[in-house]
Amino acid sequence: MKTIAVIGAGTMGNGIAHTFAQHGFVVKLIDVSEKALDKAMNTIAHNLNRMAAKGTITSDIFAKTITNIITYTDLKDGVTGVDFVIEAATENLELKLSLFKQLNDLCPHNTIFATNTSSISITQIAAAVAHPERVIGMHFMNPVPLMPLVEVIKGYNTSEEVIQITLALAQKLEKNPVTVKDYPGFVANRILMPMINEAIETLYNQLAGVAEIDAVMKLGMSHPMGPLQLADFIGLDVCLSILNVMHDGFKNPKYAPCPLLVNMVNAKKLGVKSGEGFYDYSENKKGEKVAQQFSK
Ligand code: NAD
Repeated sequence: MKTIAVIGAGTMGNGIAHTFAQHGFVVKLIDVSEKALDKAMNTIAHNLNRMAAKGTITSDIFAKTITNIITYTDLKDGVTGVDFVIEAATENLELKLSLFKQLNDLCPHNTIFATNTSSISITQIAAAVAHPERVIGMHFMNPVPLMPLVEVIKGYNTSEEVIQITLALAQKLEKNPVTVKDYPGFVANRILMPMINEAIETLYNQLAGVAEIDAVMKLGMSHPMGPLQLADFIGLDVCLSILNVMHDGFKNPKYAPCPLLVNMVNAKKLGVKSGEGFYDYSENKKGEKVAQQFSK
């Protein structure tokens, strides 16, 4: 397998394309937005520059990584001639079902379709294609070039052969794949999101402030980043959407999102990407605590 396609050139798509290209694959990077593709190529060049400056890659790998990536706005052109497709488009069920229906029509039935979804059922996505045994979850972590884990999610119908090919592919990228079953939140978010939600609930109940809650988890539990700051990096809208999927999927009130999280998303305080969440990321603030009352 030498040529793969990545659909979606946002936060995750650019990292996935970078990682495959750095490991010698030709990557066809597809996005509906030309602007997103330009931004992705700039981000990849910027990240490679940082790696080269630190001495983690050579100038030869730098140049090869960039030339290994070809961008497309047309899905058909982008997936022609590839054996493996990784979908990393916006987290929206209808959008993913429509994309997989199109992939079904455009690709031969031995092409493997992976999705990087954080929470949507692999089995449900697979139901949009004629051969659901070739659909698998390949959940990379952000930032993709640096994080060693790939959560490999086996849908209800995913074949053993497709699992083995995906595990081998992750190993070629020097990642550590872990195979899990397809239930809401899989494993990573099933554990992480309740912790983030509980940290928000702790703030909402005025047990402590933003910096204090993050300090407890950093200094007391050796977490590299506090849960409130981590939520800002992931995106509060993404956290809310994953909690809703788990709450709906398990019908268990323990996954109900904290009302403060819901309020912040409605107020468009989404974290780093909107410039403000639990911390302020505007130009001269660079992640200072927001001096705002978060409690009930
Ligand atoms: P993002 O919003 O940064 O990027 C999504 C990209 O998809 C955009 O550039 C958009 O133009 C493109 N897109 C939308 N519709 C498309 C279509 N029909 N065809 C091609 N491109 C299309 O999103 P993201 O954070 O990169 O998330 C992508 C996926 O990865 C989601 O499923 C998300 O749940 C998952 N994920 C995100 C994270 C994270 O930390 N952000 C971590 C793991 C997994």
